[in-house]
Amino acid sequence: MADSFDVIVIGGGPAGYPAAIRAGQNGLSVACIDEWKNHDGSAAFGGTCLNAGCIPSKALLESTELYHRAREEFAVHGIQVPGVSMDVATMQKRKSGIVKKMTDGVMALLKGAGVTPLQGHGRLLPDRKVEFKSHQGEVRTLSAKHVVLASGSTPIELKSAPIDGRRIIDSWGALELTAVPKRLGVIGAGVIGLELGSVWRRLGSEVVVLEALDTFLAIADQQLAKEAAKHFKKLGMDIRTGAKVTGAAVKGDAVKVSYTDAKGEQSLEVDTLVVAVGRRPFTAGLLAEGTGVQLDARGFITVDDKCRTGVEGVWAIGDCVRGPMLAHKGKEEGVMVADLIAGHYGEVNYRIEPSVIYTAPEIAWVGETEEQVKASGRPYKVGVFPFMASGRARAMESTQGFAKLIADKASDEILGVHIIGPMAGELIAEAVLAMEYTASAEDLQRTIHAHPTLSEALHEAALAADKRAIDNINR
Ligand code: FAD
Ligand code: NAD
Repeated sequence: MADSFDVIVIGGGPAGYPAAIRAGQNGLSVACIDEWKNHDGSAAFGGTCLNAGCIPSKALLESTELYHRAREEFAVHGIQVPGVSMDVATMQKRKSGIVKKMTDGVMALLKGAGVTPLQGHGRLLPDRKVEFKSHQGEVRTLSAKHVVLASGSTPIELKSAPIDGRRIIDSWGALELTAVPKRLGVIGAGVIGLELGSVWRRLGSEVVVLEALDTFLAIADQQLAKEAAKHFKKLGMDIRTGAKVTGAAVKGDAVKVSYTDAKGEQSLEVDTLVVAVGRRPFTAGLLAEGTGVQLDARGFITVDDKCRTGVEGVWAIGDCVRGPMLAHKGKEEGVMVADLIAGHYGEVNYRIEPSVIYTAPEIAWVGETEEQVKASGRPYKVGVFPFMASGRARAMESTQGFAKLIADKASDEILGVHIIGPMAGELIAEAVLAMEYTASAEDLQRTIHAHPTLSEALHEAALAADKRAIDNINR
């Protein structure tokens, strides 16, 4: 194996592996170093997203949603399925199989692009040298014209609720449970709390979610958040806002959680407690003395809008740098950096980054919330179309939620789209593309949408912004 490369990428998650693949496609010699190890000790590319994040969580969300619908919703179609039950071991085996296929796939993709995959620890040394220590203990010093840091993130731990891996667990632990806890506590009503809380609630856990903020889903458009809260309540999730956890202790087979809220001291007893209060950048052991790479006050690697660290030939992408911790954001940064290194054009449009919460109904948005547009003082108009009025949603028996479009009152430019409803995560792609091309509400109004499809909801929301909806009364 060569010791010198055009590009060395440290980290093989959804930021690092696309950077390596695109650099390979650009004709550069590339190595991608990744140290991920699963609980069984096996090494795998794909990082958090494929091994312990996006993919396993979506596999469990799919299985449990099917189970939930079979129990609660099939009867209305005339489908009788008495005695439906869930075999958690089979569900988990399916999930692990998907993860294995996807992570093996990343290895194949790397090799297919001519990238040298290296499994073990990478450490940036001064002058674009990289120390590589394989999982077998072999140490080598490599050099590169460019080094891309893509070391990802790790869960934030709470001093008041230390993870023991058994009763008090993090999101990875919550993806690996082998039995349904009778009582499940979750600290944090963020994306992980809502997605994994839904998974175990659908399987029968009594789920209580403790959220420190007073506002539920503060990052989302509040009309969307209010609608979402209704559906989580209907599912039976007990979400308590303004709840600040002060302690959690394992007592025998239970966890006693204490917290304060507006009414004072409170307590809660659960069988399993998931801590999901956000993630922090992971850079432990990544940077040797004297590299010149800077970390900000919160531990993120400092970069500019092109992911340059300020050190010649050293770049950083994904969760270890500023911005939302999302796989697709890291992927686009990886591709941009690999193209810039090769002398091609590259950019990430940070203004238009979609977010999706894969609950039922799904929650998705792009661009500004109504609260943000209002605060900017810009005159705006809003169009809302409820899925209740969609023929396709009715046929699917999935009429919860709505599509909402916000546009500038004067220029008609689309400023934000917020969807809660069936397949919202897929529907948002049209809004992302429209906004990427600076579309107006009228552009969407004049675009033919197939009937009957869920996508008509966005079409009608654009029409509603001008009080010209056809399939809903304009108010
Ligand atoms: P990571 O995926 O964390 O990968 C970094 C890799 O680098 C890891 O393999 C790590 O072992 C390796 N590494 C670190 N340091 C070194 C070193 N010094 N040497 C060698 N290797 C190193 N995002 C979405 O967009 N959609 C979702 O649906 C979604 N669901 C999620 C569900 C859960 C439960 C969680 C926890 C996260 C989810 N995310 C989701 C977030 C997503 O997983 C992250 O944004 C994404 O993985 C970040 O990619 P990354 O490549 O920057 O980092
Ligand atoms: P998050 O930032 O989405 O939510 C954390 C929540 O915990 C917040 O609502 C916060 O107010 C609350 N919180 C913080 N400290 C608390 C405390 N002491 N007590 C009670 N509540 C507290 O973080 P997450 O849910 O842990 O997810 C981590 C990252 O992973 C996020 O950046 C997210 O974007 C990403 N992720 C994305 C997806 C997706 O795209 N569908 C899914 C899962 C995770």
